[in-house]
Amino acid sequence: MTTPNPLAPARLTAAGDPQALPAHVWPASARRDDDGRIEIAGVALTDLVERHGTPLYVLDETELRTRARRVLDAFGSRTAPLGARAHVYYAAKAFLTADVARWMRDAGLRLDVATGGELALALAAGVPGERLGLHGNDKSDDELATAIEAGVASIVLDSAEEVGRVADAARRAGAVQGVRLRVNSGVHASTHEYLATAREDQKFGVALAQVPGIVAAVRARPELRFLGLHSHIGSQILGVGGFAEAARRLLEVHRDLLGGGPVPELNLGGGFGIAYTADQEAVAIEELADGIVGTVVDACRELGVPVPDLAFEPGRWIVGPAGVTVYSAGTTKDVELQTEDGPAVRRYVSVDGGMSDNLRTALYGAEYEVRLANRLSTAEPVLVRVVGKHCESGDVVVQADLLPADAGRGDLLAVPATGAYHHSLANNYNLLTRPPVVAVADGAERVLITRETLTDLFARDTGLAGGAA
Ligand SMILES: *Cc1c(COP(=O)(O)O)cnc(C)c1O
Repeated sequence: MTTPNPLAPARLTAAGDPQALPAHVWPASARRDDDGRIEIAGVALTDLVERHGTPLYVLDETELRTRARRVLDAFGSRTAPLGARAHVYYAAKAFLTADVARWMRDAGLRLDVATGGELALALAAGVPGERLGLHGNDKSDDELATAIEAGVASIVLDSAEEVGRVADAARRAGAVQGVRLRVNSGVHASTHEYLATAREDQKFGVALAQVPGIVAAVRARPELRFLGLHSHIGSQILGVGGFAEAARRLLEVHRDLLGGGPVPELNLGGGFGIAYTADQEAVAIEELADGIVGTVVDACRELGVPVPDLAFEPGRWIVGPAGVTVYSAGTTKDVELQTEDGPAVRRYVSVDGGMSDNLRTALYGAEYEVRLANRLSTAEPVLVRVVGKHCESGDVVVQADLLPADAGRGDLLAVPATGAYHHSLANNYNLLTRPPVVAVADGAERVLITRETLTDLFARDTGLAGGAA
């Protein structure tokens, strides 16, 4: 590269070939074909776009299924020698379609759902109730009744008042319902550090000090079967530290609870991180499993209690790296700025989507990479910011990356690591219709979700007599 742009973050000036597809960010099947076009699972993105348009969510089915099995193996192979089981609940909120639900079921995973909608879809897709867990800090009576009727394996209690509500609902259904108690462990893990406080100021779970009283109330209700404690310490966590600290905190209480009856499980939640950009390290799930299971074993030995069955709830780690979003490039604009190092130019490349298909950049300042998808170019790389077409200056897709200087209108741009929390957070801001999701595997493609149409959108507007357009 020539003189680095002073606006470019250090991770870009240090980066290698800006047209490469780093293996820890892209699906394993991603490569460039002889014409320089990016293909996933043997299908060129240009061909997919010809048939399905842009913006387009592409999902590598094999990547997703492989990762699902890998996470189950990672924990299962480490708990089995201890005489304990590992349950992996896929966090459905990350990305849920009927096929995805079945793929998870077929890989041996369970599914975590957090609303009546997610529950209904999982059941409609054929996931049996005993493979489901229900979460949520404000479950409705209907949601509880439906979940209990379906025979869900567990309902995660999120407050003291839910003990009575779930027990009453179970009695009405003539069922005995398995329940966990979500604990606010005071450990909140973020990407590079974790904070361990007495009690975190947030809405989920109950304080550690409240646990004995609430579990006693659970055990006093014959309609409830206590399964164990649950904690979820955050998302996009790259190290074992936060999980280890939460496990130790929960296991002390777990030991005390064993005095009053069985506590078969410990659920340590999800949040395993992935690499969104080349400079980030992806979590090697086997290493994480080593660290977490090792901590649990040590803590159990110190506390003199048997190792419980362990449960985990990864969403992002399973599906995030399996997804790629493809856009058509539109308007390109060079914005001249003054920096401490003199004048600099930031090139804004607009695409035909934005915060309606990728809310994470606007919501969390998330970082992504972008690649020219329809060709390789010999033009010099320039710093770009990829923005959407919404009426919002925070409508950014990719804050900073390098693209060949000749990339622009007529080109396709691909953003990797968009399998989790993209389709599920998609919205209709500015009346954009939501993109389709196309799965690819072994050179073949299948539409999982069709493109939303204006007719779909207008159908709910009563001023249009049932929908025009
Ligand atoms: C969101 C969530 C998960 C999944 O988080 P990921 O970061 O996608 O792994 C798991 N458990 C609970 C309770 C959650 O809220």
